[in-house]
Amino acid sequence: MQFTEFSLDARLLQSLSHMGITTPTEIQEMAIPVGLSGKDLMASSKTGSGKTLAFLLPAMQRIISTKALSKRDPRVLILLPTRELANQVYSQLRLLVANTQYKALKILGGENFNDQAKALARDPHFVVATPGRLADHLAQHHFHLNGLELLILDEADRMLDLGFADQLKAINAAADHKRRQTLMFSATLNHNEINEIASELLKDPKHVAVGASN
Ligand code: ADP
Ligand code: MG
Repeated sequence: MQFTEFSLDARLLQSLSHMGITTPTEIQEMAIPVGLSGKDLMASSKTGSGKTLAFLLPAMQRIISTKALSKRDPRVLILLPTRELANQVYSQLRLLVANTQYKALKILGGENFNDQAKALARDPHFVVATPGRLADHLAQHHFHLNGLELLILDEADRMLDLGFADQLKAINAAADHKRRQTLMFSATLNHNEINEIASELLKDPKHVAVGASN
């Protein structure tokens, strides 16, 4: 199978080709159609299997092909457990948005809070964040999640291990409207809290698992 077989905007296919990426990995083949369908997803596959593009491509496609539900940005929020992981996802997202008119912002712990508040006020379409710092901005009303169309939790098991369950629930509650889609990715599913958080955040999700979880 090739990426050209998915219904993806020509600019996304062009970015992939610039990255030298032509053939989807197994998790991408299974998760991208679910992401594009608008359904919620709980996906697991091992580290290095290409989960990032499995959610970034449907996220980009949604923003490109649909009108915003609200004037409020962001439209897509991607949460990751650590600064390092958030930086990795942000750099892949940058390559995809560079070919479009959309704006991406990262909001990480350990950086200047006021600068972040100003950047959030400039209405980025995509925000990549760690949950603690983002929940702080939410509590200070530096931005709203009324217009959020897509919530993505990457490395959900590690976010729970780091004690972010309360922040995830607060962010979920602030973005609680009927037309929101939620995609959850994890390296493992045999985790005490995963099912609980999934049942709170996901609506009738499709389940996709590749290989033995680690
Ligand atoms: P995971 O999140 O599952 O650990 P990543 O999304 O970080 O994996 O991808 C791991 C590496 O594989 C990255 O360097 C990425 O650019 C590369 N990659 C992702 N998808 C493909 C693909 N379809 N073909 C070739 N390389 C890919
Ligand atoms: Mg990953």
